[in-house]
Amino acid sequence: MSKSKVVLEQVAEHKVRELLGQVDTASFPDRWGPEVVVHAYDPKTGVRGVLVVDNTARGPGKGGMRIAPDANARQVFGLARTMTWKCALADLPFGGAKAGIRADPFKSDRIALVKSFARSIAPYVPSRWISAPDMNVGEKEIEAFVNEVGDLRAATGKPEHLGGIPHETGTTGFGVEVAIEAMLERVQGQVPIPKSLHDVRIAIQGFGNVGSELARFLCAKGARVVAICDYWSGIYDENGLDFAKVSKFAYAKSEAQSVGSCKDAKKIHCNDIFEVDCDIFVPAAVGNAITMETVHRLKAKAIVEAANNPTAPDAERILHRKGVLVLPDLLVNAGGVIGSYAEYKSKTADEAFALIDSKIRENTKIVLDRSLDTGTIPRIVAMDIAMERVAEAMS
Ligand code: NAD
Repeated sequence: MSKSKVVLEQVAEHKVRELLGQVDTASFPDRWGPEVVVHAYDPKTGVRGVLVVDNTARGPGKGGMRIAPDANARQVFGLARTMTWKCALADLPFGGAKAGIRADPFKSDRIALVKSFARSIAPYVPSRWISAPDMNVGEKEIEAFVNEVGDLRAATGKPEHLGGIPHETGTTGFGVEVAIEAMLERVQGQVPIPKSLHDVRIAIQGFGNVGSELARFLCAKGARVVAICDYWSGIYDENGLDFAKVSKFAYAKSEAQSVGSCKDAKKIHCNDIFEVDCDIFVPAAVGNAITMETVHRLKAKAIVEAANNPTAPDAERILHRKGVLVLPDLLVNAGGVIGSYAEYKSKTADEAFALIDSKIRENTKIVLDRSLDTGTIPRIVAMDIAMERVAEAMS
């Protein structure tokens, strides 16, 4: 086949995929949803976006709004569905939804994009959808969104002066810490990890919002965080890292600011994080971190999923066979959305943290009780519970 034909076919395939992503929403409904798919187009500004409200049986659909050049209905639907299960498992009176504005965030006026999108989807907010920050959407864009809709209930993740409880306060990382504590309490002896938080050795992949806040909460409780890495490099200390010394390397945006620049611990390659001798490994960076390539390098006896989708299904089956406990993202990283619910109910930040603590503690216990009693993978148990709750609300 000629080179030009190959290129043409690739272009055609790309076009078909793009079109499918945008218009073929009829191919994905099932018994759970989606209930509404809105393709927004503002002819004045040329702004395009999509809102997917997946399921509102338990309450208005909750989910963030992202600005991304590849945002399409299929992708947004997948994210909305995840929110349906996450909110149900957290036992919040919310359904699942998500929105994507299709634009290059670095070449556009984000505030103008959000305002235009807000006008298009205003009839669905906040009865069917309550927005929140997501990729390339922060509290400034959320402020513009609620102002344009004219209703503070239209979104969470607002700035503090509008009653917001920003994720930057560490709600998600705090929830992960609670999940670790609850797991240790419940598994006592059934998984070969030390019983006390003071004795376990923890390695964290990712030192941004979730990873660094988690490290902060763990160290404050006297846990031993032995390794941390970010995109560029990592550090290791078998006696436990001193958070006060490493905290200034959190949220690095370049190699020069990376955690490996910390002189108070041994520098490691970022990929060496998988081989660190530890009891608990926390992926808190990207999806698909634990794959068939990396799974065999892990020494931990428990994986606590702080990132979304960090473990590939094949790798999870291997871990289960080896007796490694995998606490699923659906359960572990719900601190952010529980904090959002607290904001929606006009609660204070302290009340939000108390709610995250009680919900994640209780849900971790429920999931592990069923999982350890039946030998079922915790993710399957978590999904079953979420589905039972949504099905009950639908009936
Ligand atoms: P972030 O951008 O603040 O931090 C990500 C960190 O991961 C950074 O330290 C970055 O350097 C590091 N990283 C990126 N690629 C890496 C790689 N290949 N190897 C090692 N480290 C790498 O992001 P965040 O908000 O902390 O989110 C982390 C994960 O948690 C994401 O999967 C996100 O979807 C999920 N999550 C976040 C929240 C929240 O409230 N922020 C809530 C739920 C789930």
